[in-house]
Amino acid sequence: MNEIEGLPKASAQRIARTIHNRATVMMRLARELKQGLEVGIWMHSGAPCYPLAGGGTVAGKEASAAAHKQLSGKRFKLVEGALIDGEMCWPGWDEGCRCTWRAYIAGFE
Ligand SMILES: [Zn+2]
Repeated sequence: MNEIEGLPKASAQRIARTIHNRATVMMRLARELKQGLEVGIWMHSGAPCYPLAGGGTVAGKEASAAAHKQLSGKRFKLVEGALIDGEMCWPGWDEGCRCTWRAYIAGFE
C-alpha cells in the first residue's frame, strides 16, 4: 500500500515515524524491565524536540522542547516515564522527540 486517499504524504510519514518510534520505545522498555532494570536516565539529543510536540501553538511547542531538554540527565522510573506537559511519557515517545535514555545501574555511574 503506497497511498491512503485523503491523507497527505507528509502526514502519513509523520504518523508512521511516530508509530515506529513508540514501538521501539515499548520493545526497549519490555526488554530492560525483563532484565530487572528499573530506572533510566533521560538523554536529550541536543536537537530540539520540535516542532511536532506541544499541542500546535508556537509557545506550546517551545515549552515542550524546553521540557525535554530540562529532563536531560534526570532519572525516571522505566514503568512510569517522566512528566511532561501534565502527561507521563518516555524518551522518544512524543511526536518529534529525538531523546533517548541510558539504563541506570546503581554503582555503575
Ligand atoms: Zn525529546
